[in-house]
Amino acid sequence: MALTARSVIQHIDRQTEFVRSGKANSVAAKASVHPADDVGNLSLLRKIDGMILSNLAFNYIAEEVVNVLPGRGSLLGGMLRVVDAKCGDLEVVAISKSLSGPKDVLSLARLQGTTVSPNQLSKMDELTAQALNERRITSGERLKQAACPPLTPDEANQIQAHLDVKSLFVYPIVVENRLSGALTFYSSESQADVAQADEELMQSISDEVGIALANAHLTRQLDEINSKLEDANAHLQQMDAMKDEFISIASHQLRSPLTAIKGYLSMLLDSDFGEVPEKQKPVLGQLKQSTNEVINLINDMLSVSRINAQKFELTKAPVHLEEIVSDVANELKPLATERSLALKLELPTPPLGELNLDPLRMRQVLINFIDNAIKYTEHGTVTVSVRKEAGDVVLTVADTGIGIPEGELTQMFTKFYRAENARQMVTSGSGLGLFVAKRIIEEHHATPIIESVEGVGSTFGFRVPFAAVTVARDATAPVAAGVAS
Ligand code: ADP
Repeated sequence: MALTARSVIQHIDRQTEFVRSGKANSVAAKASVHPADDVGNLSLLRKIDGMILSNLAFNYIAEEVVNVLPGRGSLLGGMLRVVDAKCGDLEVVAISKSLSGPKDVLSLARLQGTTVSPNQLSKMDELTAQALNERRITSGERLKQAACPPLTPDEANQIQAHLDVKSLFVYPIVVENRLSGALTFYSSESQADVAQADEELMQSISDEVGIALANAHLTRQLDEINSKLEDANAHLQQMDAMKDEFISIASHQLRSPLTAIKGYLSMLLDSDFGEVPEKQKPVLGQLKQSTNEVINLINDMLSVSRINAQKFELTKAPVHLEEIVSDVANELKPLATERSLALKLELPTPPLGELNLDPLRMRQVLINFIDNAIKYTEHGTVTVSVRKEAGDVVLTVADTGIGIPEGELTQMFTKFYRAENARQMVTSGSGLGLFVAKRIIEEHHATPIIESVEGVGSTFGFRVPFAAVTVARDATAPVAAGVAS
């Protein structure tokens, strides 16, 4: 874009200087060109700039450019050839319609789309070969000097006579020091009589074509990069899906034997296989706790892979939230006792009644909240509370632990995020539990609760309107006597 703006300024400067110096009038008088042509040329260049700025396709711009030439001063038309960056061949991409002539007469239009190799060029098109090799403007009076296959010299002569071409000029197009093409102009004046205004126009148009080619080159490069990025992205998504699939399979395979181990450990601790020596009980207790931690981690990993694969769904059923809370609290009580923490349970009276929840997912949320509260608390109490508040069911797990640094509070539900103080206190940890808990809470149309003061304690939980978890009344249930009409 900067190139285009600069080129506009350069044209205006060149044209203004040309007119101001009086050259325009003297050349116009000498070559019988009306001064108004300068203004016309300027607006033509502005039009081409406009097309470049609008990012129109290069081939379209090329067609427009060669077709606005006829009638400008002595110009009869032009032909644009572009170098193929890979093989160096020159291809005719645009040629003025004015150079076509009647159908029964040989015409330059036959050259449209033809290509010529650098080798052929040096043998058959000396003007263009010289212009490209020496990077300078070349000119001549015979069309056959700048004709290329499939035209024979004889045919070139016939066309020249028919179109009344007196001279031709080849402008090399160099973009960022790369030979990118050649623009051939055909004039009805002999070389010596071509007006300076026409030469100015030929130069300016060649500059414009160079800019359009540079833009086309950039656009092509961008398209290539975009398509590579799209491929890489698709590949990454595929790999990501494979990773999720792998984690899902591996986790499933791990979870079954671990659940069996946990079951047998519980039975051992409950003396189902005979009395366990007192000395072994803490060891078995530790084994059970570690097995639990791995199972919880596997559950979180499975949930994350389901969330990623957009296959995370709830299986709701009418359940008593208080029962789930009590079960989880009882399971984790030994852990709290081991860390000398009090685990308090506050349940509502009267009970809430049945609520429409996913019991396994609710368990997962509670395990995460209570386990974290115990893990990140050194002294004091963990209080689990279920209550009714202004039409909402509210569940909170409050602790007197390390809390969360103020600046990190907003990041707590981010996947893998662990606060600095938590990482120092407990080196192991996945940072997945809260991410999964938030998703489960939201799937229940509930709002997560997070409050914390570093060094004082934290409260995690959720609030859900009763209406969102009310068990739908079975339409087929018998209607109470006296109510039915
Ligand atoms: P993990 O506990 O494995 O690190 P979680 O996703 O469960 O992963 O928790 C993420 C982070 O949230 C923790 O690393 C910790 O920084 C913070 N956090 C969670 N619960 C508490 C809590 N009760 N007290 C202090 N920090 C907590």
